[in-house]
Amino acid sequence: MRIRVCHLYPDLLNLYGDRGNVLIFCRRADWRGIEVQLDQVSLPDRVKFSDYDYIFVGGGADLEQGLVSKDLEQKGPLLIDAVEQGVALLSICGGYQLLGRYYRAQDGATLPGVGLFDLYTEAGRRRLKGNILLQLAPELQKEAGNHREEELGTLVGFENHSGKTFLGHSVRPLARTIRGHGNNGEDGTEGVSYKNAFGTYLHGPFLSKNPHFADLLIARALSRRHGVVDLAPLDDALEINAHRVMEGRLR
Ligand code: GLN
Repeated sequence: MRIRVCHLYPDLLNLYGDRGNVLIFCRRADWRGIEVQLDQVSLPDRVKFSDYDYIFVGGGADLEQGLVSKDLEQKGPLLIDAVEQGVALLSICGGYQLLGRYYRAQDGATLPGVGLFDLYTEAGRRRLKGNILLQLAPELQKEAGNHREEELGTLVGFENHSGKTFLGHSVRPLARTIRGHGNNGEDGTEGVSYKNAFGTYLHGPFLSKNPHFADLLIARALSRRHGVVDLAPLDDALEINAHRVMEGRLR
């Protein structure tokens, strides 16, 4: 089995080591004997996103978001096409915002988004930051528990954004906040879930403490070409311990 991974804008969108999520994704696939092809794609490159199984987009500040927003005028329709065909995708913070309809910055400038996700983001006055504990959406919780001895229904991580994101009717939240701010600090939602594509405000290599969600992404990435796959269990004792420690601190 082979998995083709596209790391989009690695040179522009990589706050707090978001890139770690690509390493974790690839390593967990590799540990199961799945061959991984990893391509880095940025401004000058022209690619057919539907050739990939999984696309990752990290977070970035307003300056980088401006450059990416411009480039997405070209790449955006191909990205939408890929997700509609079932390609899996994870986007974080600044990348997540640009896959929505628009991001309005503090100075009022509006960066157009791709419109892949039915949502919009407007900069608020205060930064929404700190450690965060989430309850995964029920349907994802069940899926993330597949083939695992110990079920984890929560996500732990760190957020830092001023953008407030509001979801439209055609998408669902990734999770509900137990501690922290999430999408906007008001409605208790965090992130987005649409087909096999996800967005979240969890920054940095958060998949290291959330191995169940990493595996959900791998299974979704393989699903377009292989249907339902049985992922061999890994020894996640350290990862689960790290998750439980953070969860305990935040509850
Ligand atoms: N500029 C955006 C915000 O603060 C995104 C920043 C980020 O990716 N952390 O909302």
